[in-house]
Amino acid sequence: MTALPHTTSEYQALDAAHHIHAFLDQKALNEKGALVIAKGQGLDLWDTDGRRYLDGMSGLWCTALGYGRADLNAAATRQLEELPYYNLFFHTTHPRVIELSELLFSLLPEHYSHAIYTNSGSEANEALIRTVRRYWQVLGKPQKKIMIGRWNGYHGSTLGSTALGGMGFMHEMGGMLPDFAHIGEPYWYAHGGDLSPEAFALQAADELERKILELGAENVAAFVAEPFQGAGGMIFPPEGYWARIQSICRKYDVLLCADEVIGGFGRTGEWFAHQHFGFQPDTLTIAKGLTSGYIPMGGLVLSKRMAEVLVEQGGLFAHGLTYSGHPVAAAVAIANLKALRDERIIERVKQDSGPYLQKALREVFADHPLVGEIQGAGLVAALQFAEDKASRKRFANEDEIAWRCRCIGFDNGLIIRSTLGRMIMAPALVASHAELDELVDKTRQAVDQTAREIGRL
Ligand code: PMP
Repeated sequence: MTALPHTTSEYQALDAAHHIHAFLDQKALNEKGALVIAKGQGLDLWDTDGRRYLDGMSGLWCTALGYGRADLNAAATRQLEELPYYNLFFHTTHPRVIELSELLFSLLPEHYSHAIYTNSGSEANEALIRTVRRYWQVLGKPQKKIMIGRWNGYHGSTLGSTALGGMGFMHEMGGMLPDFAHIGEPYWYAHGGDLSPEAFALQAADELERKILELGAENVAAFVAEPFQGAGGMIFPPEGYWARIQSICRKYDVLLCADEVIGGFGRTGEWFAHQHFGFQPDTLTIAKGLTSGYIPMGGLVLSKRMAEVLVEQGGLFAHGLTYSGHPVAAAVAIANLKALRDERIIERVKQDSGPYLQKALREVFADHPLVGEIQGAGLVAALQFAEDKASRKRFANEDEIAWRCRCIGFDNGLIIRSTLGRMIMAPALVASHAELDELVDKTRQAVDQTAREIGRL
């Protein structure tokens, strides 16, 4: 590591003096100081005191290739030398963004043809909201503008994406807007009652139909959801959910929009999570794994049908960002996608490392007194904490218990995440068996220690 100009406590004091962090109580953080991560290689991270952590979360579910890839660095450096900036406004473009589109659409199902590039997932969902409204305007149905999301869904932190999302605590900070509505989440463990997962899947999907009828199909533009909820707790909908949702959207001429910001680029072992669940969205929101997080980039992918309407009949498309399709980001995205494709990393997630992790978690945690459910596919998984496994009763303070587990993990050099009563992991797609073994072992130690502390082991 290059010599640092400050000690850890100096960094923490400067950070506390000048920075408002994401999603936490700043005052509480300032009392103990943030963890300052200084270096990464593969799945390993080091803090400013030289302590190593195994990153079980791919940063924020984004470093698909792990840290320290020389090819991504070289692609960025080359592009910085050649053309560090140009834009896609008015009548100009540049080679890298065109090459990126060529590559991206060679990897996507044929159903899709056009992309709008952004710098983040939130901006991609903002573009989604405006593009969907434009689509219905062009088709002569401007009143069709209500977007339906799901409670506990996450689509970003900008105003529109917050309204689309279903995080009540975010709405409280200014974030609910007119023309957004929500239905319940397909979280069987919490809301399934006595229903089988399959029966609950249909009930949860049918809530969409009821909501469309309540609002009037002529007013509903789109249904937007993550194929599996990420920030909401890595919740995988039970079998049958997506097929039913798709048929409801088709029946009422409502666009089906998948937020693939976490699920896209291999997480489940398929290139895109909607392929894992077997449905066909009209739009895809992408970010994170597009560049392995090395540089900010997101995008909105449109089906041929939508693009044709917007391009052939739409006239002026009044939308654009200074850094849309940034050449350095595009160069990194190209290098990243080529690595995922040419090194057959996603095939390996599907055939080898994904099943290896899923099996290990099920072997280790199936009979654990604290764990009621294990969900996941490929290299994404969640452990649900339960007070009573037979009745699926959750702890009243499940978020505190899971947060404690997360902190025990961090103290032991493991980065995993807690959401409500669920422990979440999403390691880099290049994880080796040895790294996955370490992830499972250290998670087991953290869950055991948590169980001991609350008298469950
Ligand atoms: N959609 C989903 C599903 C996400 O998980 C996230 C970020 N975690 C976003 C959108 C927002 O992306 P960003 O933070 O890049 O704005």
